[in-house]
Amino acid sequence: MPRSAAARGWESWWPSSASRFRFRFSTPVNRIVWSKRDVTVETRSGRIAARAAIITVSSNILATGNIKFDPELPRRHLDAAGKLTLGSYDRIALQMSGNPLGLARDDILVEQSNSTRTALLSANIGGSTLCSIDIAGAFGRDLSAQGEQAMVAFAKEWLTKLFGSEAAAAVKKSSATNWNSAPYVLGAMSAAAPGSQPSRKILTEPIGCVFLAGEATHETQWARSTAPGTAASAPLRRRCARSVRSRMPNRRRHLRGRPSRVAAGRGPIDGPELKDPMPYLRL
Ligand SMILES: Cc1cc2nc3c(=O)[nH]c(=O)nc-3n(C[C@H](O)[C@H](O)[C@H](O)COP(=O)(O)OP(=O)(O)OC[C@H]3O[C@@H](n4cnc5c(N)ncnc54)[C@H](O)[C@@H]3O)c2cc1C
Repeated sequence: MPRSAAARGWESWWPSSASRFRFRFSTPVNRIVWSKRDVTVETRSGRIAARAAIITVSSNILATGNIKFDPELPRRHLDAAGKLTLGSYDRIALQMSGNPLGLARDDILVEQSNSTRTALLSANIGGSTLCSIDIAGAFGRDLSAQGEQAMVAFAKEWLTKLFGSEAAAAVKKSSATNWNSAPYVLGAMSAAAPGSQPSRKILTEPIGCVFLAGEATHETQWARSTAPGTAASAPLRRRCARSVRSRMPNRRRHLRGRPSRVAAGRGPIDGPELKDPMPYLRL
């Protein structure tokens, strides 16, 4: 994470171009009806019709079928998502009083350990008194399944082992993530199974006018389970723009006469309908 973002949150990292988009938060999608011509996204607050959709839900959400696709997603894409599943990675955040660990700003510490019961420490994040302790793999999965109390207890026990009991006594507040049980994510950090690197490209193959994006689809950098890897790649943006443009002549023809609902980006909709037609959606 860029250090400036750590202090001010991810929004400070968004490109200024993001202000051109309208965002709807807390609007889970239940179903996506797609064809080569258009796409309708059904949410609990209504439906949105568009010429194309870019979908960035995690590979685990795709593979578990939490969003119904109609027609179903091609087997080829589902297989690819199944080879790029998420691992387990959680973060235990501790607010300390002062600097009891005696470490510098943004110091990172990895324990030399023969056991899987270990972690990674990020100290004095961005010059603050916040520290985070990251746990991962099978050990992290088992520990996070036991809940936040067990995670914080491990963090204090681990700090005590490395720095003495004053370190644990200096913890003022704590909080922990649990990405495996977050129902709209179901894990952390997509990794390709051995020999499955080509699955990333397969996931980006257009499905009618639906385009899958997000961390699992980035091909060229290490694992790419990072925020920069989530940005829609240039080829994806070009393909999506081509897909939208290929239906634009209709729009111009309609706009010369009386604008139709389809031309304006909204299909004929029989349920509640969300306002603000968009040329494409990013979920
Ligand atoms: C502990 C931890 C630390 C990390 N640290 C870093 C770091 O320092 N730097 C870095 O670059 N990366 C880091 N990462 C990785 C980074 O968080 C991911 O790469 C990034 O979040 C992936 O973005 P994404 O858009 O592909 O997927 P996600 O972030 O999973 O976004 C998918 C979105 O889809 C939404 N969604 C799911 N289902 C539905 C539905 N039915 N309807 C509507 N919306 C839905 C979800 O709510 C979610 O907001 C870290 C990850 C973890 C877990």
